[in-house]
Amino acid sequence: MKIITVLGARPQFIKAAMVSEKLAAIDSFSEVIIHTGQHFDQNMSDIFFNEMGLPKPDYNLNINRMSHGQMTAKMMEKIELILMDEKPNGVLVYGDTNSTLAGSLTAAKLNMPVFHVEAGLRSYNRGMPEEINRVLTDHLSSLLFCPTENAVNNLAKEGIQKGVENCGDVMVDAFLKYSCRSNNESPKVDSPYVLATMHRPENTDNKNNLISIFKELDKINEKIRVVLPLHPRTKAQLQQFGIQIKIQWIEPVGYLSMLSLLNSAEMVITDSGGLQKEAFFAEKKCITVRGETEWTELIDIGVNRLSAPSELYDAFESMNATKYDFSKKLYGNGNAGKIIVDSMVEYFA
Ligand code: UDP
Repeated sequence: MKIITVLGARPQFIKAAMVSEKLAAIDSFSEVIIHTGQHFDQNMSDIFFNEMGLPKPDYNLNINRMSHGQMTAKMMEKIELILMDEKPNGVLVYGDTNSTLAGSLTAAKLNMPVFHVEAGLRSYNRGMPEEINRVLTDHLSSLLFCPTENAVNNLAKEGIQKGVENCGDVMVDAFLKYSCRSNNESPKVDSPYVLATMHRPENTDNKNNLISIFKELDKINEKIRVVLPLHPRTKAQLQQFGIQIKIQWIEPVGYLSMLSLLNSAEMVITDSGGLQKEAFFAEKKCITVRGETEWTELIDIGVNRLSAPSELYDAFESMNATKYDFSKKLYGNGNAGKIIVDSMVEYFA
């Protein structure tokens, strides 16, 4: 069986590495990887392939720095040619980026089965490009691999039950596998510190929000050092708006360095989907700078708290003063990659 994996963004490289290694162990399966080029810098792309042993892409489409419509359309055009030529038995996509939608929509139009890892997540905010991508991809998929029971329930509400499975979160697999790996290249940061990341358009593309966020981070930084691996989009926007950064920022780091930074941090402040969960795996409190999150179970148990940009300092003070219980297993046992591949084998049998 030939599976084509379509990916293009940092979190997808991490997730795909966990499934790819299990696929490689099945003799009757082969995997062809299409990298759309959505993320392309060495430290946003190549480093993940090298560190996590993800096979080098068979195709690199080099599509980036475009509007959503143009990017998705260009990806579809190129992916269609590859799918028609390679004639895979199924197309595997991850998460909720434009690469996810381009892969799933192109495959579905060629009547090829789509397998969606991280299915069923909903923020119920259609203003988020990711929400559009995930809703559409779910409705096109034959196998829907959900990370949580909430995700399974979200799909049921939309009438999707066939092919749905709660396999747990592949990011648990990655966290367990790579958390204890030592990495000599980790940036040296004096403890204690808060680890921050910021890259969602609602925070970076809105000048007032971006000013508020960095003002609040500066306030927090007066109490405890704030360390920020700076996403290229955020860096560009800070330059464009002429905002000065006082906190300690570093270039984006690879996954091993990120886990090492996370494991030694006191708290996490982020708008990342993946880092919210990793904070929980590492038993760190997390403040999410968004109006809502797909990972609602973390909010329910209190370990994650939503905050408006201008209220970050208050959120930090109140989280700092509270103890939380991280003992619940919300995201499975770390064997999601194996469950996903076993289900694909069964699908074709
Ligand atoms: N990450 C990383 N290096 C960094 C920042 C983040 O390896 O400098 C990892 C992070 O640990 C998580 C993933 O990238 O596993 C999250 O990616 P991102 O925040 O870009 O996307 P999202 O999860 O919001 O879709």
